[in-house]
Amino acid sequence: MKNKYSIIIIPPEHEKAPNQIQFSIKAKKIILISSAVFGVFFSGMFVHDVYQHYYIKSYQQKISYVDQLEKEIQDKNLEIARLNDKTAEINDNLLAIDSMEKKIAGILKINPETESSPTPSNSGPEAGPGNISLQSFSKAGTLDQASNLVENSKKKIEQYYDTTIQQQDRVNHTPSILPVNGPISSPFGYRRNPFGRWTSEFHTGVDIACAVGTPVMAVADGTVTFAGWDGYWGRKVQVNHSFGIVTFYAHNSKLIVSPGDEVKKGQVVAYSGNSGRSTGSHLHYSAYVNGQLVDPLMFTTYSKEQ
Ligand SMILES: [Zn+2]
Repeated sequence: MKNKYSIIIIPPEHEKAPNQIQFSIKAKKIILISSAVFGVFFSGMFVHDVYQHYYIKSYQQKISYVDQLEKEIQDKNLEIARLNDKTAEINDNLLAIDSMEKKIAGILKINPETESSPTPSNSGPEAGPGNISLQSFSKAGTLDQASNLVENSKKKIEQYYDTTIQQQDRVNHTPSILPVNGPISSPFGYRRNPFGRWTSEFHTGVDIACAVGTPVMAVADGTVTFAGWDGYWGRKVQVNHSFGIVTFYAHNSKLIVSPGDEVKKGQVVAYSGNSGRSTGSHLHYSAYVNGQLVDPLMFTTYSKEQ
């Protein structure tokens, strides 16, 4: 028994004899080393499993992040495609605006002085939801064109506005109404002389029948150049409307403007009467264009034809 270890196994029932296993010191060493080797091996396996568990877990997080990124890219591409469609729509509308601008320029009789506008193009890689690519960013060129077109349109519209204001001013300074409402009792041109039975005279305007005291209106915007007594015309108001047009209203009973006054179309400047060389209550209305007498009804007739 020397230099040997013994393990005695006692069975539960004491009737049977206990088993005795003997092994030497060398065997003990082998058992211990084997136990240590197995211990290290299983510990290694355990550490490996734990590492693998955490590695897989972190990798799954990365996969999930990549999935999220892919979805975001897909969403962005859809947004880019939508913006491209919108850009094409804006370009179409700008073309329509350009066409309308040309028509307005024709009506206003002006030639817009703007640099040649780039023609919008819908060509290039199509980028619908079914054909999405980051190359869609090349559409930015189309956006630049749209931006230039908008800038040009703005300049043209500003020009149209100025022209319209000028033309509106011209319209306001052009006679388009009669100074009083009433029947024409004597037209423009040669007529029998109301003061001489068998002679004729050139009537320099139109006579409009109206009661004494009827408000007399300026037929267009302008400046009063005469307001006073005239031996022939009685109480007379004369208005210079610019653009070569001058009108006057005679035989009034009362004047309510003075020379230098600015008057507007329709503004009352006098009250009608029978002053001066007149045979009865009426308003005499005369008009000049570039210093030449004209039939004042040409303005209202002209106006009615518009
Ligand atoms: Zn007259």
